[in-house]
Amino acid sequence: AKKEGGRSYQIFDPQMQAEAIARLQLEQDLRKAITQKEFCLYYQPIISLITGEIKGFEALVRWKHPQQGMIPPDRFIPVAEETGLINPLGAWIFHEACKQLQHWQKQFPELPLTMNVNFSPVQFQQVNLFAQIVEILQETGIAKNTLNIEITETCLLKTEKFNFHSLQDINVGLCIDDFCTGYSSLRMLRDLPINTLKIDRSFVEDIIKNPHDTTLISTILLLGKSLNMEIVAEGIETQKQVEILQQLGCIWGQGYFFDQPLYNQKATQFLIDQSGA
Ligand code: C2E
Ligand code: CA
Ligand code: CA
Ligand code: CA
Repeated sequence: AKKEGGRSYQIFDPQMQAEAIARLQLEQDLRKAITQKEFCLYYQPIISLITGEIKGFEALVRWKHPQQGMIPPDRFIPVAEETGLINPLGAWIFHEACKQLQHWQKQFPELPLTMNVNFSPVQFQQVNLFAQIVEILQETGIAKNTLNIEITETCLLKTEKFNFHSLQDINVGLCIDDFCTGYSSLRMLRDLPINTLKIDRSFVEDIIKNPHDTTLISTILLLGKSLNMEIVAEGIETQKQVEILQQLGCIWGQGYFFDQPLYNQKATQFLIDQSGA
């Protein structure tokens, strides 16, 4: 047993001890990374399956760790959530994504570009979140109805404090990410101002395994259509998936088949190619 700061705890397992130390190290590094701005955003295009034109981007955060190189979000977002560091990080992400969108909207006025930003449920516990969003929107001056907040179904359930209806007043859209992997009720879908459902990658993968069983995707498409929502299929990797999704009437897609998440210069090049300039 070891005593430290009045709290006593026991560590028997050397592997557990190593993990605990690595976790603490990560937390410390993360704290430093936020003040030193070691993060960057990558942008993955969302594409029309009908015309191949771009609708907009999803912003995905990366950590450029000075020693460990690029760290993917799955490795640090959970720690950021547990420690509350997701709040300053999330504010930075939102600001950065809005600045980039405004920049692209100015540079490519002929492309009606949108931006999707991922939010963690923890962020909605902040009492001043709405004010924060309003301030960043005003500062960056992006076009109306071009910014969407992506959250999961679980987030909707966990978040009682935040009034999602208020997003409509400031022309911000709500997008349900990884749709059908969590819990959502039809009532929730009907009553909340949701404009987009994203079909999780696992269902798009199923298309290849069971090309004859597309019941689930068809049902999501029908549901979305009847509720006046847009549907984006995620994780498209093959031509075959594109063809089946097209046949089913899915309009929007995203995935490695079109493009990986791109750093900003590469995304700009993508837009230059798209605008035919
Ligand atoms: P997500 O929001 O569901 O994002 C989609 C993930 O799938 C991204 O991974 C993306 O790079 C990856 N992806 C895109 N197309 C394909 C494909 O065709 N095949 C495969 N296998 N994967 C594809 P990434 O960037 O590593 O992000 C992982 C998760 O981390 C995200 O899942 C999201 O939950 C979280 N995340 C990423 N950026 C942010 C952020 O800025 N804020 C918050 N709160 N969470 C974020
Ligand atoms: Ca997402
Ligand atoms: Ca997703
Ligand atoms: Ca996810």
